[in-house]
Amino acid sequence: MQATNPIWAEVQQLLQKNLSKPSFETWIRPAKFNGFENGILTLIAPNSFSSDWLRKNYCETIEKAAEEICGHNVKVIFKYETNINSLSETKDNLKEKNINIQEKSFSNSQDITATLKNRSKNPNSLNFRYVFKRFVVGPNSRLAHAAALAVAESPGREFNPLFICGGVGLGKTHLMQAIGHYRVEIDPEAKVKYVSTETFTNDVISGIRRDGMTAIRDKYRNVDLILIDDIQFLEGKEYTQEEFFHTFNALHESGSQIVIASDRPPSQLSGIQERLISRFSMGMTADIQSPDLETRVAILQKKAEQERMTLPRDLIQFIAGRFTSNIRELEGAFTRAVAFASITGLPLTVQSIAPMLDPNSVGVVVTPTQVIKKVSEFFKVSTDELISSSRRKPVSQARQIGMYLMRQGTDLSLPRIGEEFGGKDHTTVMYAIEQVEKKLSTDPNIASQVQKIRDLLQIDSRKNL
Ligand code: ADP
Ligand code: MG
Repeated sequence: MQATNPIWAEVQQLLQKNLSKPSFETWIRPAKFNGFENGILTLIAPNSFSSDWLRKNYCETIEKAAEEICGHNVKVIFKYETNINSLSETKDNLKEKNINIQEKSFSNSQDITATLKNRSKNPNSLNFRYVFKRFVVGPNSRLAHAAALAVAESPGREFNPLFICGGVGLGKTHLMQAIGHYRVEIDPEAKVKYVSTETFTNDVISGIRRDGMTAIRDKYRNVDLILIDDIQFLEGKEYTQEEFFHTFNALHESGSQIVIASDRPPSQLSGIQERLISRFSMGMTADIQSPDLETRVAILQKKAEQERMTLPRDLIQFIAGRFTSNIRELEGAFTRAVAFASITGLPLTVQSIAPMLDPNSVGVVVTPTQVIKKVSEFFKVSTDELISSSRRKPVSQARQIGMYLMRQGTDLSLPRIGEEFGGKDHTTVMYAIEQVEKKLSTDPNIASQVQKIRDLLQIDSRKNL
């Protein structure tokens, strides 16, 4: 790549002087030179997010800087590496100029190229991002992930249907589409169809209206693998259920694999015919739970890696500590953090990002010393014992609650909390927080103790960890 093109190098130098360090490091430095012809400077951003961001926020700044260097008008256009159209265009451009580009620098695009190639053969409306490679497996999703892999590898066997259930934003759609991608990768001829229950319902309705049920039946019964999302939306729709029942049977009998996603297990679906529920339960039901802290950290790390961004470890820990139940929100927080740092020019640190991610956390609510004091008073454990390594149950329980409340009431990082508790490792703190989180929903006694101390310390309970 021509990362060292002299004009772009000079423009970058000028921008480095004029922009804040985080903005420069986040957006300008990673942008690579692609070409400069007829007053048009083409840059390649590492991903679509950066490319959009550059276009919206830095276009003029870069043009001005380039004009200063070149002494004439310059227009800037942005492409990104993972965009296939612009990728091939980029490759051609570079080839034309006899520049040897390494496939490595487009590594993110390789699986996408394969996917798109397959897609042209197999129009299955799958999102190219929802592949197994991008799915982080944690204890919360291990079974569902294993079952998903199994049906992709040997469809139509014992796990038919595979019924994936779990709350909003936990990865059901991602996982079920990953099955589709993988199936096509294994067998490019496989006919894979992904459909939301809503689309299925609309098709059935329009089929009835236009008397075209045969076409609809062809469409849905002539597939090897059907992925049907958000089946809970069948509730109360009698006619669609009837049609789905027959579709299900036809597919099942012909040995096609059926994968269903739902926000609830089959037994908890109401307003759905009994015979359908029993069919849903006849293969394998796998649920996805909320991810634990470690998994959330891993998801953010993977996301940063994919976006080719570097986030400090403690910031990742911080975001993962606050967005606990929904991966979509976790990803949203990540994106907001990066955008916020860029707009304000503030560094990507916990201190600068915290107030933006959580309006309730403006300012430090309590000091670490206050937390330790209140917790030891409340549990009648001495401060020394609280921060010791004693494994006595009442002490270790109080310590875990203390760590949890310190996380909630202060802006301290996990390692810093560990220090406050006599030099514990951050993984111990992480574990403590997990434990308390779990107990809060299962043990009313603990929940009430935590709430009482919170009230004493006036920590805002709306604040997520
Ligand atoms: P659901 O269908 O359960 O509501 P989605 O599959 O739409 O959830 O997931 C929401 C977002 O979180 C998507 O962007 C998805 O890629 C991401 N996501 C969910 N689970 C994981 C995971 N285990 N690893 C990486 N990303 C995930
Ligand atoms: Mg979904």
